[in-house]
Amino acid sequence: MSDSTLNSELQQLLGNDRVLTDQEQLLSYSYDGTPTLNALPDVVVFPKTTEEVRQIVLLARKYHKPLVTRGSGTGLSGGSVAIQGGIVLCLTKFNQILELDRKNLTILVEPGVLTQQIADAATEIGLFYPPDPGTIKISTIGGNVANNSGGLRGLKYGVTRDYVMGLEIVLADGTITWFGNKCTKDVAGISVKDLFIGSEGILGIVTRILLTLVPKPAARETILATFDSLESAAQTVSDVIAHPVIPCTMEFLDKTTIACVEDYAKIGLPLDAEAILLIETDGHPSVILEEIAAVEEIAKRNGARKVERAKTEEERLSLAAARRSALSALARRRPTTMLEDVTVPRSELAKLVRFIQDAATRHNVQVGTFGHFGDGNVHPTFLTDERDKEELKRVHAALDEIFAYTIQLKGTITGEHGVGVAKKPYLPKQFDEGSLNLLRTVKKSLDPENILNPGKIFDVL
Ligand SMILES: Cc1cc2nc3c(=O)[nH]c(=O)nc-3n(C[C@H](O)[C@H](O)[C@H](O)COP(=O)(O)OP(=O)(O)OC[C@H]3O[C@@H](n4cnc5c(N)ncnc54)[C@H](O)[C@@H]3O)c2cc1C
Repeated sequence: MSDSTLNSELQQLLGNDRVLTDQEQLLSYSYDGTPTLNALPDVVVFPKTTEEVRQIVLLARKYHKPLVTRGSGTGLSGGSVAIQGGIVLCLTKFNQILELDRKNLTILVEPGVLTQQIADAATEIGLFYPPDPGTIKISTIGGNVANNSGGLRGLKYGVTRDYVMGLEIVLADGTITWFGNKCTKDVAGISVKDLFIGSEGILGIVTRILLTLVPKPAARETILATFDSLESAAQTVSDVIAHPVIPCTMEFLDKTTIACVEDYAKIGLPLDAEAILLIETDGHPSVILEEIAAVEEIAKRNGARKVERAKTEEERLSLAAARRSALSALARRRPTTMLEDVTVPRSELAKLVRFIQDAATRHNVQVGTFGHFGDGNVHPTFLTDERDKEELKRVHAALDEIFAYTIQLKGTITGEHGVGVAKKPYLPKQFDEGSLNLLRTVKKSLDPENILNPGKIFDVL
């Protein structure tokens, strides 16, 4: 059966305006946020209901076409790129907030709703949806669930998984399933929804999501601590948590990132510092005042050269914006920006950041590192030019060493961006053969024809 028959069946189902086949239009769906990776799909479709998704799954099976689910395409591991061609199932038009339940503190949404819309809907009724990936304004909740996305507040509030109470999933055979409910306790059956969270579109398509919301913190305090050594910044993080104070964010910027952010945002960051930490606590006003005082004292005890507290809401927001602009600021330096997200136990942070800097020097490449230090999650960001193949080779050599060292420190090759295509070669270095075989068994039992997002995370064999 030909592609044109498939396309006309898709057009019959969705109408012409929700099926793209024109090469120029397909181009926009040939990449995500991952540098040096792109592939043209055969067709892009925009369903608006679960039944339409189900029908498209059945057509993909009938025509033996790969089916690649896509949200906003902000992923950083190539998850939504159709590397084997086929149908891109773009869910951005499947985007209604279905229910806001104040009594049970839940929100039920379709997968194409933007994360920011969920945060805003919660704020409007005095509640809070904490997960806040850097792309909060443009990423979809379906993409967040499929990648189990984290963000700046992970240390205190956890990641997307911690807020998912229920999921509707369309399976590879077209079955529509629902797992979960509004109960805060539920141990009936196996927790299957957890299998789908973080499964990067290879096990099923998420078509409805029930999320829990929490009370909005009444107040926040933010400090900027400046350090002359990485070790002092890392020790401050460990000591704050051991105190114990759990800030909602503990963000780290190294010297290169500080220079780029300052050049971009001009907010007076210390250009001669080795590292800065942006630390925010939130909660009841009297509690956070005590907490922030303890954090200031710990930072000074660890040799912080300067500890400044944001005095106004404007100052607080400009510090937060500075951190959020880290990637864009670094990206201005060179044409290609390769952002990774290795993660280690917090106790190993200083070693890892030092190793990243040494690896960049050894391979004569530029790197800026920032990240969620409280979570042990750092983003070494290589500044390069993909047209310079020789330099790109050196970047990859540095990355190979960084991934190997991360695994040696008992860390993980990805804390929040997923494996997709970009980190697929490194997964067998982190997982033993028995564990990889278990992943393959799960995939084969749920998608025996390997239709859903084939070629991602691991090879099925
Ligand atoms: C500047 C920048 C900053 C970022 N900051 C963060 C950050 O702080 N924290 C973080 O965790 N990530 C971050 N990311 C990565 C990215 O934004 C997240 O992974 C986000 O959740 C992807 O959402 P999306 O809608 O763009 O999904 P896409 O990129 O379209 O898809 C991501 C994956 O999910 C699958 N998928 C999408 N929707 C569904 C669905 N409904 N059902 C099944 N599978 C689906 C796709 O097949 C793909 O594998 C950042 C990216 C950029 C470019």
